[in-house]
Amino acid sequence: MTSQSSVHGGSRDHTHDPSLEDTFDFLNTIELENGFLDDHFASFGDAADWLLGRGVVHRWRAAANRPTGAAADEALERIRSVRGALREVSDAVVRGRPADPAALAEVNRALQARERIELVPAADGVSIGHSHVGDPIDDALARLADPLVKELTGGHPERIRICDNDTCRWVFYDTSRTGRRRWCDMSTCGNQAKAARHRARKRGAADAVDAAAPSEAASEPMPPSSAVSEPAPPSPAAN
Ligand SMILES: [Zn+2]
Repeated sequence: MTSQSSVHGGSRDHTHDPSLEDTFDFLNTIELENGFLDDHFASFGDAADWLLGRGVVHRWRAAANRPTGAAADEALERIRSVRGALREVSDAVVRGRPADPAALAEVNRALQARERIELVPAADGVSIGHSHVGDPIDDALARLADPLVKELTGGHPERIRICDNDTCRWVFYDTSRTGRRRWCDMSTCGNQAKAARHRARKRGAADAVDAAAPSEAASEPMPPSSAVSEPAPPSPAAN
């Protein structure tokens, strides 16, 4: 038994280090849904569940120190703020523009809260423990910021993408061979984009034959008047 309650050795009871994918998943916990922002972290409980689920917060610590009331509101605000700052940094990298200094300051502040690694005595010698000097939520945010910072400094930041689908905007990492992926997921956003292009073509060519089939009619735009195959709607509005 150890009396050092704040230091514990071994790795079994420890959280794992998040991957860049975890970090991007964290950023995508606020997303566009049908054109509206949908924040998966509506409450501190939502955010805590997510952090616990990803193993970036100690289960026992979170249970023991779980903030309530005003402290929970404040913790949620911190989580959202760091998430927004990491998102801003990612966006700046993707677009090749200077990042908002306030966002950089927020990320830098988050990185400072990283737990310290310490050697602790073990029955068979020495093991590596972590000294939890700060707040577990701050520690979790530092862990989540870490993979992005590593990618920016020693990885392939040019592979960071934001989904081309204007109703999605997910942050993702392009693992394709060509490095030219545009959508977070080809089966959803990629297909949506294709479907949208398809609809636009059909609108442009109204009653032309199915645009999917190669044809002369589909390749050149028709004059609007002749393109209307149905009687105009009774509405007086233009279009
Ligand atoms: Zn997408």
